[in-house]
Amino acid sequence: MARKNKNNKGLYLITIFLLLLLTSTGIISYFYFDKQLKTKKQETTKSNNAYLEKEKELKEKQKELEEEKEKLKDFDNLEEKIDILKKDYFKAIKELEDSILASKSDKKIAYLTFDDGPYYNTYKVFDILEKYNVKATFFTTNINGDNCYDKKSENCLVMYKEYLKRGHTIANHTYTHAIFRGLYKSVDSFMDAVVKQENHIKEQTDGYVTNIIRFPGGSKTAGKLKDGIVEKLRERGYGWVDWSAEDGDGGNLKSKEQAWNTLTSSINDKIEVILFHDYNNITTSILPEVIEYLQNKGYILLPLFYESNTINK
Ligand SMILES: [Zn+2]
Repeated sequence: MARKNKNNKGLYLITIFLLLLLTSTGIISYFYFDKQLKTKKQETTKSNNAYLEKEKELKEKQKELEEEKEKLKDFDNLEEKIDILKKDYFKAIKELEDSILASKSDKKIAYLTFDDGPYYNTYKVFDILEKYNVKATFFTTNINGDNCYDKKSENCLVMYKEYLKRGHTIANHTYTHAIFRGLYKSVDSFMDAVVKQENHIKEQTDGYVTNIIRFPGGSKTAGKLKDGIVEKLRERGYGWVDWSAEDGDGGNLKSKEQAWNTLTSSINDKIEVILFHDYNNITTSILPEVIEYLQNKGYILLPLFYESNTINK
């Protein structure tokens, strides 16, 4: 009986001990998991806040983007507006040309053109033209490639964007300008050089398209090929132009006096297309006086445009 009591007491103690163990484990677990839960909650709140913050940022960015898009729409319209203005401007100049040619107007027009660029020397031409607020036409070629005169750190291809930035007109003078090295071998060889320069201009300017061309050496250099070439040019939407006056800088020019005399003696029409080469230092040295001379004689100095009577189509 006494042993039985002893056993019961033992069992009782074990039960109590087990109960205590379970309770304490429960309490510990409760506090432990509660703490973890709280930490989790805190983390969730934190990441929720971060998420809200990000969402707000994104919404702001989206708003900015919408605003930029609106601005871009304005730019699209701006280009359209410029195109309309250009068309009106060309129409007005064409009408002025018509009345000059019909002797109904005593105004005069001179189109200054510069061949064979770009060159670094072109900057000198830019500065002079800017001083007199005159816009000109540049007949471009890749004849110089990387070997520009007055070589500086940058390749002179950067000039293509400069032409447009400064309001001048870019025209095509063939990619190779290889008068004695195959340009005039056939209609196709000529047209290849035209298309190559057309693409080159587009690449260098992000898409500028010209529809005016000058034959290297002048159209007479094409000889028997001329008619065939002109037909192909017409098909491609090009008009072509030679020149009616020059200072002789494409040849063997020896002095400023020679350039001045050659030029002034060749200016006698009411509408003149004047040929220069922007690489020639004699030309740049007399250019300010040339501009003043022309303006004093009543010439308006303008860049060429396709619709002009001077452009053969
Ligand atoms: Zn040339």
